[in-house]
Amino acid sequence: MAPFKKVLIANRGEIALRILRACHAMGIRTVAVHSTVDRNLKHVGMADESVCIGPAPANQSYLNVPAIIAAMEVTDAEAVHPGYGFLAENADFAERVEESGFTFIGPRAETIRLMGDKVSAINAMHQAGVPCVPGSNGPLNEDDRRSRKLADEIGYPVLIKAAAGGGGRGMRVVEDPDDLIRSISLTRQEAKSGFGDATVYMEKFLTNPRHVEVQVLADSHGNAVHLGERDCSMQRRHQKVIEEAPAPGITDEERERIGKICTDACKRIGYLGAGTFEFLYEDGEFYFIEMNTRIQVEHPVTECVTGLDLIRAQILAAAGEPLPFRQEDVHFQGHAIECRINAEDPEKFIPRPGTIEAFHAPGGPGVRVDSHIYDGYKVPPNYDSMIGKLITFGETREAAIERMRVALDEIVLRGVVTNIPLHQRLMQDSSFRQGGTNIHYLEKLLKT
Ligand code: ADP
Repeated sequence: MAPFKKVLIANRGEIALRILRACHAMGIRTVAVHSTVDRNLKHVGMADESVCIGPAPANQSYLNVPAIIAAMEVTDAEAVHPGYGFLAENADFAERVEESGFTFIGPRAETIRLMGDKVSAINAMHQAGVPCVPGSNGPLNEDDRRSRKLADEIGYPVLIKAAAGGGGRGMRVVEDPDDLIRSISLTRQEAKSGFGDATVYMEKFLTNPRHVEVQVLADSHGNAVHLGERDCSMQRRHQKVIEEAPAPGITDEERERIGKICTDACKRIGYLGAGTFEFLYEDGEFYFIEMNTRIQVEHPVTECVTGLDLIRAQILAAAGEPLPFRQEDVHFQGHAIECRINAEDPEKFIPRPGTIEAFHAPGGPGVRVDSHIYDGYKVPPNYDSMIGKLITFGETREAAIERMRVALDEIVLRGVVTNIPLHQRLMQDSSFRQGGTNIHYLEKLLKT
């Protein structure tokens, strides 16, 4: 029997479609909510019901909590899946949903709150035995002498980060001790205006790390498993461009060790559902930077190498069902790579919305396309520029790269410009092909 009769999808684009597919495969009816410019989204047409919740600006529609709760009431939805972005990591929303008698498909509100503040997240993880980046272990106060002393102890360069930061924003590198105090106050101002919270903290700036993150799943019965790691080091402006699983060069022993640290931490904090521990990885050491309490854009690469459906797992966990497998039942096979396809200028990287005149998706063995676009679809200027994800899977990393190369060449996408040329270039790049490039690699390459 389906764990819920009806689920409301509080998101748009490819992830809304992905959630709809998981629900329908489980025999769950779906409600799509959308803004006025999103009437023609693919999942809106496929959902059992749809409700317009407001005009194009996200704060009047996809972030409009009363409108979403009202939509749940009028459609008799039992649960809401928030996807990623928008309200996915908003503890107040999760709380409102539960208070209104519905189920939030995600962790408990208090967990979202704890992890949403990076300072409290680091403290909690530190206590749970998770290795963290050397840093202030708490907010910086107005005491300049103390901040200077702290930076000297940590060693330059240091990074000043907003506790409420996200999306790669709200951080500043300080190389020179003379710039420290000014940088702290600038980051504080930005944090205040950008996130409504001026709290900042200090961390050692790792010079050549890779971004390696661990996917976990936990149920409400005290069980937790990890689904291995992903490498998301190919970044521009701290934003992921390509992700893969497993991370090149990580041994089975390292995976098991860091995976166990994460599942132990989940049990300790009473984590529920899917989540990701993000680490920087340098010289064989993992350093925790933050936890994402939601499904992530890059979840498909983990699905490819584990054969699991993470959205389905989230829904089952939210319904109170015990995890249907144990750690020893999770097996990893092959290698998967994901390229994020954005409607943006391939050189300047600024969003370039427009109308899709023609779209032919690639296919064949080991090729997965998660995208909501179709011929005639108009990419609105109001939201993220990502129009789809191309994922390839093979027995080896080389096989996945070769399939990606062919799939990228096979795509026909007319009407909008995209970053496909960048992905094509990267698939031929000798350092990427070798594997294990660090988080600064792409920016350096783009400068050459
Ligand atoms: P956000 O929530 O904005 O995504 P994160 O804390 O996850 O912020 O950091 C995003 C990216 O910023 C990381 O993947 C990494 O590239 C870079 N970064 C974060 N902390 C550090 C650090 N201490 N040293 C070097 N780079 C860092």
